[in-house]
Amino acid sequence: MAPPRKPGKLALPSHESTIGKFLTESGTFKDGELLVNKDGLRIVSQSDEGEAPPIEPLDHNQLSLDDLDAIKVIGKGSSGIVQLVRHKWTVQFFALKVIQLNIQETVRKQIAQELKISLSAQCQYVVACCQCFYDNGVISIVLEYMDGGSLSDFLKTVKTIPEPYLAAICKQVLKGLMYLHHEKHIIHRDLKPSNILINHMGEVKLSDFGVSAIIASSSAQRDTFTGTYNYMAPERISCQKHGYVSDIWSLGLVMLECATGKFPYPPRESIYELLEAVVEHPPPSAPSDQFSEEFCSFISKCMQKKASDRSTAQILSTHPFLSMYDDLNIDLASYFITAGSPLATFNSSNRYDDR
Ligand code: ADP
Repeated sequence: MAPPRKPGKLALPSHESTIGKFLTESGTFKDGELLVNKDGLRIVSQSDEGEAPPIEPLDHNQLSLDDLDAIKVIGKGSSGIVQLVRHKWTVQFFALKVIQLNIQETVRKQIAQELKISLSAQCQYVVACCQCFYDNGVISIVLEYMDGGSLSDFLKTVKTIPEPYLAAICKQVLKGLMYLHHEKHIIHRDLKPSNILINHMGEVKLSDFGVSAIIASSSAQRDTFTGTYNYMAPERISCQKHGYVSDIWSLGLVMLECATGKFPYPPRESIYELLEAVVEHPPPSAPSDQFSEEFCSFISKCMQKKASDRSTAQILSTHPFLSMYDDLNIDLASYFITAGSPLATFNSSNRYDDR
C-alpha cells in the first residue's frame, strides 16, 4: 500500500506503483509502447497491460531472427534441424526449422519466397508458420511451437496408441487434411508421424505441408532432398498422377503404425525393395483379431492401392470409427501429458520447463 499523502509534503510513491508496474515477468521494462530489456529498446504496439502482446502468426513484421534466442535442438528431420527458440520481447516460444539446401543461390531464394506465400495457412489443425527467412544459403522457418513434439516422438514412449485415443487424434488430422485439400487446394505430400505434432492442450496439428512440396518441385535440388519415401502412395512411387487421396494412403499407414507400434511393411534390405513392395504387394491391413471392425474398415478405406478406390478426407470424417468412442469423452490433453515423454513443455506461467 502506498503511504497516505500528507498535505503540503512530497511523498515517495510505493515500489509497486513505480518500477513494478512497468516490469514484465521476463524482466522487460514496459511502459505503453516502449519495451526495454537487456537487449535494448523497442517500440511495440499498445497492449492493455503485463507482458508484451504475443506475436500472432500473421504479425510477420514483428519477427526477426535477431530477436530469437536459441534454447536447444528439439528435433532432427530429413531437411534439417529444429530448435526451440524464445522471442526476446514477448518471451514467446517458437520452433525454428533450419533448412540448408545444397543448391544454387537463386533457387534457394525462390524457395524461401514461395514458402512465405504458401505457408500463411490459418487453421487450428495446421501448425502456424509465423515467418520465413533466407540468409546466407540457409532457409529458416519460424513455426508455432508444439510442446508435445511429434507423433513419432510420442510413439517412441507409448509404443502403441489405443483405438479410442487414435480416433480422437485422427479426427483432428482429418480436419487438417480437409482444410489443406478443400480450402487451400494443397496436397500435403509428406504426411508421416514426424509431421503430426501434438501439445499439452490435446491439440493435433499437421506440419511441414508445402515445405516438401516446394522443395520437391524445384527440380534443381531434388537429389539433395532426402525426404522419407516410406509413407508414399503407390501412384506417387510409380510416377503416375497423384492427388489429394495420396495423402489418405499415408494417413492409413500412419494410423496403422500408431495402432500396432510397427511400420506396417516388414523391414527390407533397401528403400527400393520397400517401394517395390508398396507397388506390387497387397496393401497392409489391420489384424481383425486385435482391432475393432470399424478400425479395420477405416484402414481399408485409406489403404486402397488404386487411388480412385480410396475415400476422401471429407468422406472419412464421417466414418463410424471416428465416433464409436465418443461416449468415453476422451481427454487427449491428459493422455499426451501423462503418457508422453517428458519433453520441453510450458507450465501455466508460460516459463520454460525442461522436465
Ligand atoms: P521431418 O523433416 O522428418 O519431416 P521435421 O524436421 O519437420 O521432420 O521435425 C523433426 C522433429 O522436430 C519432429 O519429430 C519434432 O520432434 C520436432 N519438431 C518439428 N517441428 C516442431 C514444432 N513446430 N514444435 C515442436 N517440435 C517440432
